[in-house]
Amino acid sequence: MIGVVATVLFVEKAVGLSLPVFPLYSIAALLGAYNLVFFIWIKSVDPVSLRALDISMSRAKQSLINRIANTQIALDLLSLTALIHFSGGIENPFIFYFIFHMIIASILLSRRASFLQATFTIFLFNSVVFLEYAGLLPHYCLKGFVPYTLHGSPLYIFGMNFAFISTVYIAVYLAASISGRLRERERSLKEANILLEEKDRIKSEYVLRVSHDIKEHLSAIQGCLGPVRTGITGELNPKQRDLIERADDRTDKLMSFVRALLEITRIKLSRQIEMGMFSLRETVEDAIDLVEARAKDKNISINVNIEPDIDKINGAQIYIEETIANLLANSVKYTPNGGRVDIAVKNKGDSVLLQIADTGIGIPKDEIPKLFEEFFRARNAKKIERTGTGLGLSIAKQVIERHNGRIWVESEEGRGSTFSILLPK
Ligand code: ADP
Repeated sequence: MIGVVATVLFVEKAVGLSLPVFPLYSIAALLGAYNLVFFIWIKSVDPVSLRALDISMSRAKQSLINRIANTQIALDLLSLTALIHFSGGIENPFIFYFIFHMIIASILLSRRASFLQATFTIFLFNSVVFLEYAGLLPHYCLKGFVPYTLHGSPLYIFGMNFAFISTVYIAVYLAASISGRLRERERSLKEANILLEEKDRIKSEYVLRVSHDIKEHLSAIQGCLGPVRTGITGELNPKQRDLIERADDRTDKLMSFVRALLEITRIKLSRQIEMGMFSLRETVEDAIDLVEARAKDKNISINVNIEPDIDKINGAQIYIEETIANLLANSVKYTPNGGRVDIAVKNKGDSVLLQIADTGIGIPKDEIPKLFEEFFRARNAKKIERTGTGLGLSIAKQVIERHNGRIWVESEEGRGSTFSILLPK
């Protein structure tokens, strides 16, 4: 619409041609009005986007969107024909704007529908040309732009029409071929993705079964080592005690690793996690309780700042508490003695932002992008803390993404890290 008004103004004022401005502006206003209606309509059918090509959409919805697109393109072609008629007919060089509509039609519609739209275009264009030629419609000559009126010259009409018709069909043929190929590729990518997801599920089930078995054996080993370590089965000499203690400690670590592996696999396999309303304030406080003793041992101060109007949110309370506790435990673990950890919870419209900042060892810049990957541990963390699963953050990521939230980190090596979680309420 703006384009039409600007072009008419330019042609009138700068080029100096006289045009019938009233019908031209009226058509422009009509064009703007019905396009707005279509925009609102299509958004109400598919609020996410105008994805007429999305194959995951239901058939009924897709066919409705196709029908809307078809109607809108047909109306645009009618408007353009009217604009062309009031501004010189066949003498107007803007007749090639029909090609844009053909390309859009080929992208959005089926090949058959695009060729039908092309035929409709040619019909509209020729109707104007022949009605003006026969004197049944008035001709608005572009005086000053063309040397003499061309709409009555059969040779000019034939030549222009030949170029126009061939351009329209070639444009539709090429655009429809390209978009057809793209649509095909999109479909095969979607299929490959489904296959990959299925393979991933099979792998997770396998991991779940194996880690479950390992956990049972580990429990049995712990059950045997416990009584020996505590001396129930008889006094141990120092050498024996040392070996048993080491074996018991290693079994403990292995057990927590297997538990983490089981947990992340279970989250991955569960299609839905149970949600409900819970108090985020209490959950943060409970998570702090879990790490307080360890922080005290290292003389690390924990400071909390929760905005007063923060309270209930919807989610899986146990998972959220575990995630916050996990991040806090990491902050305490990777912060040297005497440091500090700050927790802030703020309202962000429909979401809450939870941030945990520490004055710890930080994360090397080049390793930040890999931090949430399974089993990943940064090199500086491995140096100061030999044990660790590298699974805590990937579990946190899974949990937050299941809540349609976002988790990220900002950090500078040697200065500290800030982990942020954005959770929809
Ligand atoms: P783990 O702590 O068992 O190694 P996580 O998945 O919880 O496993 O963390 C992965 C890695 O992220 C850690 O090994 C460490 O390199 C880094 N990391 C996590 N939290 C912090 C933190 N607060 N400060 C510095 N590094 C961190």
